[in-house]
Amino acid sequence: RGNGFGTSALAEEELITPPVQINYTQNLINGQFVDSASGKTFPTYDPRTGEVIAHVAEGDAEDINRAVSAARKAFDEGPWPRMSAYERSRILLRFADLIEKHAPELSALETWNNGKPYEQSLKSELPLLVRLFHYYAGWADKIHGLTVPADGNHHVQVLHEPIGVAGQIIPWNFPLIMFAWKVGPALACGNTIVLKTAEQTPLTALYVAKLLHEAGLPPGVLNVVSGYGPTAGAALASHMDVDKLAFTGSTSTGKVVLELAAKSNLKPVTLELGGKSPFIVCEDADVDKAVELAHFALFFNQGQCCCAGSRTFVHERVYEEFVEKSKARAQRRVVGDPFKKGVEQGPQIDLEQFEKVLRYIKSGIESNATLECGGGRLGSKGYFIEPTVFSNVKDDMLIAKDEIFGPVQSILKFKDIDEVIHRANSTRYGLASGVFTSNIDTANTLTRGLRTGTVWVNCFDIFDAAIPFGGYKMSGIGREKGIYSLQNYLQVKAVVTPLKNPAWL
Ligand code: NAD
Repeated sequence: RGNGFGTSALAEEELITPPVQINYTQNLINGQFVDSASGKTFPTYDPRTGEVIAHVAEGDAEDINRAVSAARKAFDEGPWPRMSAYERSRILLRFADLIEKHAPELSALETWNNGKPYEQSLKSELPLLVRLFHYYAGWADKIHGLTVPADGNHHVQVLHEPIGVAGQIIPWNFPLIMFAWKVGPALACGNTIVLKTAEQTPLTALYVAKLLHEAGLPPGVLNVVSGYGPTAGAALASHMDVDKLAFTGSTSTGKVVLELAAKSNLKPVTLELGGKSPFIVCEDADVDKAVELAHFALFFNQGQCCCAGSRTFVHERVYEEFVEKSKARAQRRVVGDPFKKGVEQGPQIDLEQFEKVLRYIKSGIESNATLECGGGRLGSKGYFIEPTVFSNVKDDMLIAKDEIFGPVQSILKFKDIDEVIHRANSTRYGLASGVFTSNIDTANTLTRGLRTGTVWVNCFDIFDAAIPFGGYKMSGIGREKGIYSLQNYLQVKAVVTPLKNPAWL
């Protein structure tokens, strides 16, 4: 099938993407595309219209069993953990080159299934993907243990070994980037993987997994199963033969998978969960620049970012001007068909998220926040929502407490730095924060006071592969990216042998 351009409202000359085919809809197990064990499929949609674009194999517990067996065998007997780290590195480099070569098709498929603007996917997300696999290819042959002096009578080697079969569960908001954050470090360390994609966005992971095999990945090392959370996801989290679980999604599901892991084989779990990130605009801020950055911090990816700057705290001295300009900026935001040039915002992912966001907007209005602009649906089909700005938001309103995961900016007023640190930290989340100031002392005070895994100062959403990412408090456990994610995928083995003639330490 084509990507529906013929039927869309777009004029031919406005098309900016190559036509894309959906070639892979089956589960990828042991290097082969196969139907689900039950023979069942489920529909996947185009969020621009709500129409079905493909039927995908629906994996459940039996498919997870088959995928885990393949991964287990590939780990216990296969070449991947045993080959030279240099060779693993070269496969990852070849894979990065293939992603680069296929970037236009991959971006188009991502847009078709997820709704994010094609230009955003092609120009900012695909380069991050390539960079990430280059980065972890670079690590593959630099992971090594150490020796420790111990008591002088023993020779002690500390080996860093791959942890085994990794189970990985990812969400729908950045299907390809979440694939990369999980798969990159796990492969660099020599592990094998069973990855479950989000039911809303199964398509691009299957496409890139195929490219990874083209790059030389042995069969069984990466297995990709599509399916729903309570069936396929839960089976993976509770599987006795999975040695490690990595999850990204909502905090409530994070608790469920942590419990499943604990009740089965006590596999270690890393979690990347929700957030309610503060973006703090100080009194010395250049208001125009602050407005633009705060707008980006919230509205990027249709507001569907775990780290979205969803509480915009603005100093009272610049508050009025900031609100006026933020409203004007939101009204200028270009919303429309994400395949179209210049579009900044596409549809929300699905009907459930669309309705949830509209419910939060209603709650903001009912709690007497000031609706500056937006607030409703755009168009009559698909899941488009008007860029929405609330001012006069108070800390105890639902829109200031819950993760909305949509294009809804909440602007709050503050007076001084200690107060804003306290209020910014008064949340169960601690994923990220943004600080906008030209005063180095203010920046230092804020960066040390904020209890979040990332603090972006005068920037936001910088996701380079080398920068660790993860949450304090209920935003998660552990870090992804950077050197920190290697620890998630390694076991540490101490090998102790007596020294016959301790000569020197
Ligand atoms: P979700 O938790 O419902 O789904 C995430 C994944 O978990 C999906 O693959 C889903 O199928 C699976 N899942 C659902 N129930 C499961 C179960 N019982 N057992 C095992 N797996 C299960 O989240 P969502 O609503 O799809 O995604 C949005 C949420 O994800 C937001 O809250 C957002 O903050 C969070 N998120 C966090 C990050 C991060 O890096 N911290 C990144 C992206 C999204």
